[in-house]
Amino acid sequence: MSERETEAETVTETCSAKGCQQPARHQLLWNNPKLHTPERRKVWLACDEHREHLSDFLGARGFLRSVEPHAS
Ligand SMILES: [Zn+2]
Repeated sequence: MSERETEAETVTETCSAKGCQQPARHQLLWNNPKLHTPERRKVWLACDEHREHLSDFLGARGFLRSVEPHAS
């Protein structure tokens, strides 16, 4: 069995919120247990304005794993 893990799921340095062009200041690491293996982390980037909105969205679904500063 070969592992094909791609960590490079971050394609842009701007906020992941719809229509937002702000530079990312935070990264939200999340996992959907129905779709992903437990170790898998999807990444959403967020500006200061949308960090709370996006983390609430993921948190409400039980997907959010951690929020880290995004060094650009
Ligand atoms: Zn934003």
